[in-house]
Amino acid sequence: MTGFGHWLRRGMAAFAGTFVLVGAAHAGAAMVKTPSPGYYRLMLGDFEVTALLDGAIDLQPTKLLTHTTPAQVNKLLARSFEKEPLPTSVNAYLINTGSKLVLVDAGTGGLFGPALGGLVNQIKASGYQPEQIDEIYITHLHADHVGGLMAGDKMAFANAVVRADQHDVDFWLDPANAEKAPADMKDFFKMAAASLNPYVAAGKFKAFDGDTELVPGVKAVAARGHTAGHSIYVIESKGQKLVLWGDLMHVAAVQFPQPQVTIMFDSDSPAALVQRRKAYADAAKGRYLVGSAHLPFPGLGHLRADGKGYTWVPINYQP
Ligand SMILES: [Zn+2]
Repeated sequence: MTGFGHWLRRGMAAFAGTFVLVGAAHAGAAMVKTPSPGYYRLMLGDFEVTALLDGAIDLQPTKLLTHTTPAQVNKLLARSFEKEPLPTSVNAYLINTGSKLVLVDAGTGGLFGPALGGLVNQIKASGYQPEQIDEIYITHLHADHVGGLMAGDKMAFANAVVRADQHDVDFWLDPANAEKAPADMKDFFKMAAASLNPYVAAGKFKAFDGDTELVPGVKAVAARGHTAGHSIYVIESKGQKLVLWGDLMHVAAVQFPQPQVTIMFDSDSPAALVQRRKAYADAAKGRYLVGSAHLPFPGLGHLRADGKGYTWVPINYQP
């Protein structure tokens, strides 16, 4: 009996100890509340691709989207378990080809407030330093794609050459266009000039015109409409392909099922629509990986044709 009592007491004590420890863990651990990681990495053939999150901006799709109605937009948002204001990722992509480190788009920098502008921190968190970047390819000169070229009044990427299509440069960096733009558009011109001109002055900007191979395996393809020189970038290694869409689309819940829906930021909405349809059809047919600046981070996945529209299939997360 003594032995049984002994074991029983030990057992009770162990049980009580466990109970106290579990209880303490529940009451004691403070919530961490730091942001989730903002980079995601994968291999594409021999290339290493790192998606980078600059931050998220709240959009009002019912006010911004055109060729639709607010009721239709709300219905499609609800169908995807979303509503206004819609937090919308601002993504950029870093490609290490083995011989060049290439950044596609540069985020917002300080232009959109403290909820964004995290790109350089994410580059560092992902294991690189901004001064290692050799080339920066810009999809178009809107502030959420070029703002991060500058860190205050300094060039954020000291050793990089910046490249963009000449048509966007001609439009956004021409002071005469800024002069005649409507009041609510003038800031777009100012921000493009402030972000790009220091690189131009330093001899670190080089435009291209339309479809151009920029480094082996990375090619600019003209997809003009959202802006006059909007470009997408095709990344290919060992038969694997990633196409970075920039701003071919903005609101996944609406513009995948209904590609005809356009956005106020388009310089030329009908042309932007032609490019979106072309890119969607090609991605669905080619079954290659797609990345886009405003898809939910990491903004990487595939497209599947679905009736008159498409379904976005986000990439299968892998560590
Ligand atoms: Zn954008």
